[in-house]
Amino acid sequence: MTALADRLRGRIQENGPMRLSQYMGEAVSHYYAGRDPFGRRGDFITAPEISQMFGEIIGLWAAIVWQMLGSPQRLLLVELGPGRGTLMADLLRAAATLPGFRQAIEVHLVETSPALRQIQRDKLGAVTWLDNLDQLPDGPAIIIANEFIDALPIDQFIYRADGWHERLVAAGDEFHFVDGAKVEGAGFPAAELGGIFEVNDAGRAVAAALGRRFAKHPGAALLIDYGHALSACGDTLQALGNHQSVPALSSPGEVDLTAHVDFQALAEAARPAMASPVITQGNFLRRLGIEVRAGRLGAEEDCRRLINPRGMGNLFKVLALSSARLADLPGFSL
Ligand code: SAH
Repeated sequence: MTALADRLRGRIQENGPMRLSQYMGEAVSHYYAGRDPFGRRGDFITAPEISQMFGEIIGLWAAIVWQMLGSPQRLLLVELGPGRGTLMADLLRAAATLPGFRQAIEVHLVETSPALRQIQRDKLGAVTWLDNLDQLPDGPAIIIANEFIDALPIDQFIYRADGWHERLVAAGDEFHFVDGAKVEGAGFPAAELGGIFEVNDAGRAVAAALGRRFAKHPGAALLIDYGHALSACGDTLQALGNHQSVPALSSPGEVDLTAHVDFQALAEAARPAMASPVITQGNFLRRLGIEVRAGRLGAEEDCRRLINPRGMGNLFKVLALSSARLADLPGFSL
């Protein structure tokens, strides 16, 4: 039994079952605080770790958006949850082919993990780290997040004969779910008995912060994650250790804990920011020319992994948010 599991168990014994978002928030921040979980020897692998093309294509997207913003001399380029810093490194290398763009970029990383900040420093040198978006200075900004929202803590609700109940985390021999108090469930989708609906309040808060920002400052955000375009019921909480699926509430803080992203909820929370249609990662990367780039690099297999429906192409979705005067962002028009 780890110290975190002990602490969570102690708190449940004292105060009763706890909200899933509390459990997940502590588990995730403990998980990232002291380790590098990415890659073949870690717990999971993400798109930028599969191929340099991913960050390069996002760099191309950012360059076009910078021009749509009127090529400002100073551009805040922000990444939320940059992991190993690989996406940002590939993006900046691609950006150097357009010197005016590269010179305008001022990099800000929103990262809470001390271990990952160190890895990012080694890879990217002197950039600025922030604890959250509210610390970002004024000015035009392009904000990127890949597999960030899926790591933010969710709550779950279950539909019973008398209506919706919150699902809370209790501790016996193992951590397990119990029904909590009845809730109103306003805005939840129609459900069958036993149906589960997930609410990512932290993700919605990030979207709302982007909405507030784009009401005051020009810019755009690109949110890439696995999830669904429309709000829907489903238990998607998932734990991965060593590339294997393990029970969701086993080993808090020792395994990667994520949930699918509800992109409709994010777009709604970001109002009055403009929201693009939610498209698949496959379509986004293809429209921005990944197949041509893959041909040049001889990286067709990595490309297929990123865009094929059976790889990451369909499950992963892309949503852009922007200030009012940006229309038809690259990759989103048919
Ligand atoms: N974008 C990277 C890493 C994804 S993993 C990639 O695609 O490879 C999630 C990242 O979000 C990690 O860097 C983790 O430390 C960070 N993170 C998780 N919760 C966070 C929070 N609440 N605030 C800031 N960063 C967070």
